Amino acid sequence: MALPDGSAMVLSRRIEVLQTSSGNDLGFRVFSWRAEVRPGVWVAFTDAGAGNLALHVGDDPAEVGRRRRAIEAALGLSGRPFQYMNQVHGNIVAGIGAASAAAGTGAPVAGAPTADAMVSYGEPLAVMVADCVPIVLVGDGAGGKAPVLAVVHAGRPGVASGVVPAAVARMHALGAAGLGAWIGPSVCGRCYEVPGDMREDVAAVVPAARCTTSRGTPGLDLPAAVRSQLQDAGVRVEYSGGCTLEDDTLFSYRRDPNTGRFAGLVWTDAPGTPAGPHRVNEQMSE
Ligand SMILES: [Zn+2]
Repeated sequence: MALPDGSAMVLSRRIEVLQTSSGNDLGFRVFSWRAEVRPGVWVAFTDAGAGNLALHVGDDPAEVGRRRRAIEAALGLSGRPFQYMNQVHGNIVAGIGAASAAAGTGAPVAGAPTADAMVSYGEPLAVMVADCVPIVLVGDGAGGKAPVLAVVHAGRPGVASGVVPAAVARMHALGAAGLGAWIGPSVCGRCYEVPGDMREDVAAVVPAARCTTSRGTPGLDLPAAVRSQLQDAGVRVEYSGGCTLEDDTLFSYRRDPNTGRFAGLVWTDAPGTPAGPHRVNEQMSE
């Protein structure tokens, strides 16, 4: 780990805590938020304590892989890895596993799809961010089927091009009902300054994005924009995280362009899995 702020040792130590934890340390050192949001369905957002989880920021791929596996092992997900994606600020929604075939988009994806949203029938999904808005969505499956899960990466281009409503539409196409959304930490409208014409371009598509920063300059409130898109789509927002730029326990690209990425995660308990340490810690998610 070669973050320029010299935090390598801190991140390594925290992962070690995660790996060796008997349960009680897990949660508050690695996640900014975590909860069982439906019976057997979990949502979490990591923080800097989990280390960088992205392969595209110049970090050692082996170290990134170890961190990803450590989180999966601690959550009882060994053998059911989180699916990550190659995020490109677009509005493509990739179906994972059976959700790919069900959506008529061809064979299941091998490796990481190039997309900014993914949907699955219960397969663990991950979205990486450092200021962009990470969104996790959960819907009930039709006719007793597995819950329909989704993750979305929505920065300024994704908000403007509708990646959030595209993901909601795909979930509905898969039969999902009763959708809920969890909006993870991102740069807030008070902090996200943009040129005035850029603000107007985005606000022309999503009026809720238009804001003024704490310095009185033109800004974009991306979490408010995402919230309005979700509400327009009839999706209940159940959680909204804080500001990445203001909270140094989170990664922020605007604070440090060489920073890592934290992740929004959604997963299900494997059928027949006994309650593990992650259940013991349910009350420690914040
Ligand atoms: Zn802020």
